[in-house]
Amino acid sequence: MNLQQPITYLKGVSLKKASVMYMELGIKTCDDLLHFFPFRYIDKTQFYQIKDLQPNSSEVQVVGKITHVKSVVQKRGSRLVATFQDATGSMELVWFKGQKWIKNSLKINEPYVIYGKLNYYNGSFSIPHPEMELVTEYKKKLQPKMQPVYHSTEKLTNAGVSNKLISSYLQNLLQAVYDTIEETLSKEIIQDYDLILKRDALLNVHFPKNQECLANAQFRLKFEELFFIQLQLLRKKLINKSKIKGFNFNTVGNNFNKFYKNFLPFKLTNAQKRVLKEIRKDVGSGAHMNRLLQGDVGSGKTIVGLLTMLLAIDNGFQAAIMAPTEILATQHYNAIVELTKHMGLQVELLTGSTKNSKRKQIDEALQLGDLNILIGTHALIEDKVKFKNLGIAIIDEQHRFGVAQRAKLWSKNLLPPHILVMTATPIPRTLAMSVYGDLDISVIDELPPGRKKVKTVHRYDSNRLGVFKFMKDEIAKGRQIYVVYPLIQESEVMDYKDLMDGYESIVREFPNPKYQISIVHGKMKPKDKDFEMQRFVNGETQIMVATTVIEVGVNVPNASVMIVESAERFGLSQLHQLRGRVGRGADQSYCILLSSFKLSDEAKTRLQTMVETSDGFKIAEVDLKLRGPGNIMGTQQSGVLNLKIADVVKDSKILSLVRIIAINVLKDDENLAKPENLPIKLAFAKMSKTSKIWSNIS
Ligand code: ADP
Ligand code: MG
Repeated sequence: MNLQQPITYLKGVSLKKASVMYMELGIKTCDDLLHFFPFRYIDKTQFYQIKDLQPNSSEVQVVGKITHVKSVVQKRGSRLVATFQDATGSMELVWFKGQKWIKNSLKINEPYVIYGKLNYYNGSFSIPHPEMELVTEYKKKLQPKMQPVYHSTEKLTNAGVSNKLISSYLQNLLQAVYDTIEETLSKEIIQDYDLILKRDALLNVHFPKNQECLANAQFRLKFEELFFIQLQLLRKKLINKSKIKGFNFNTVGNNFNKFYKNFLPFKLTNAQKRVLKEIRKDVGSGAHMNRLLQGDVGSGKTIVGLLTMLLAIDNGFQAAIMAPTEILATQHYNAIVELTKHMGLQVELLTGSTKNSKRKQIDEALQLGDLNILIGTHALIEDKVKFKNLGIAIIDEQHRFGVAQRAKLWSKNLLPPHILVMTATPIPRTLAMSVYGDLDISVIDELPPGRKKVKTVHRYDSNRLGVFKFMKDEIAKGRQIYVVYPLIQESEVMDYKDLMDGYESIVREFPNPKYQISIVHGKMKPKDKDFEMQRFVNGETQIMVATTVIEVGVNVPNASVMIVESAERFGLSQLHQLRGRVGRGADQSYCILLSSFKLSDEAKTRLQTMVETSDGFKIAEVDLKLRGPGNIMGTQQSGVLNLKIADVVKDSKILSLVRIIAINVLKDDENLAKPENLPIKLAFAKMSKTSKIWSNIS
């Protein structure tokens, strides 16, 4: 039997069932079915003692006796409660349905085997509606094994594709093909890391004899899954490096040197210097640069970007920066014009609101090559924008751009321009390894000197008066303040009302003319937004009431207080970005997170994390743990994380391990041509053919 055959070749799989399995689970071939793993197991091989139960145990099996049964009547209905004991402690068994019948059938003081989902409440354990069997009966039967539980859907259930059925298909399949399941890893790797064989892993992941067999099977399959992802990413990187030629910026000329000597407004931090060196090595190598530059808010990425652009100009190329919003693009434009004002460079801004006449002028200068640096928004990647010779494209705050948009920049030249992606959202190492494994990564892990840490506190809404008082004191010192409200799409109308109510109460508390207040939100016309923003930037208003439109990039050094309303509704990376708006000047800055009293555990963790640390990488790690990789910055679209069994968060140790192994394999045998690597080569070729994952990450 060939594993690539459709599952209809299996006994009992009708066309109808096969089609539902394909629609619902994506299972088409026998191989697909073999790799459709249970998501949990019913483990009746283990017995627990009551003293060993943990609040987070899910299903447990216990042997003990019922000592006492009572009915508890409450407003919301009655329940039957049995006290259940073993030699080590006691717990409760609870029934809501069929109480009368159950009460009559329960035997007091006779040993039972019970099994069920464990609840933990107020320091005591209970199992609602347990499965139970007298020990005398239990002993007469065959010892049960672990049962796999597969994901199901309503459509599957309706079509009769039950858990039991899938399990029986797999049993037949495994019996038929076990001997022919091919190994995918080399003997050496299997030996060195004490892995079980692929065929045994498949057998044991579906039908484990016990927890140990299951753990071995899972480890082997996770190992393999992550190994091949790394192999793929690393090979791509290798091929890019050797095959994709890039522009060679080998001259460090006039512009770079002149700026560095005369106009650099501060000393670069060591981290900035290091990163610049990494970039210079790339762009001077003749290969194509595809680099991710990570650096926390305020770490000074802009200057690194500028110096890189000057290098391009020194070598006869044009440079571009793309930012996600008009405000940000404008800010970059202003900063770069200011920094390079004595350099005699032509710098232009191109956004959606650039007038046609100006646009024409820009287009001309671009094609003639007179224009050195073009800064803009998405407008930059429109087809009609044509550079004479774009040498480098810098993408700021990259997570707001889709993969397709980045790819578009490539098509602007014969040779792709060097790409430098700058992000202020730190990406945890594990995630970076799996999503951006084919990019080179530079990290600015040091803030410019003299920055004071933003003091962060969490306050409940009931402390609002105290917060107002604090705001007044700060304003009296000449500082400016942000007050940010959540505006989340689903509840937009309500959020909008909250924002307006909040604005009104602030206006009442901070009356005109002593206080001036700006307001900015997404429903305003861009012109009005810019006007209000500008008033705040100019220091004409002391308070900026806003939604998260100010989240990214805005730079007002005199603003030293960030107040976040309903902070429990913001995600960690958003809170971190918001806090990054303050602490940009010389003054002590503050971030006040306001929330209601009722907080979910997750919200508590988020707020506590913000109070405890300002390290963007730590925050990103917590975020990843809380939300899972699927929700972190555009990873869904990359598809890399459609993992079948591994989890880049929980299995980060395996991930680090296999990355090193993959590096070593390729170092030794780049084309997987050695006979000992044949299993890897074959598996790799098969995967590349069937997976849609890989092609276009960068
Ligand atoms: P981000 O990495 O968030 O884009 P910016 O490039 O906007 O950060 O820099 C933040 C601020 O820090 C700017 O005002 C910039 O001029 C300043 N800055 C950057 N590098 C240094 C440095 N080495 N020393 C002092 N100030 C610096
Ligand atoms: Mg920036």
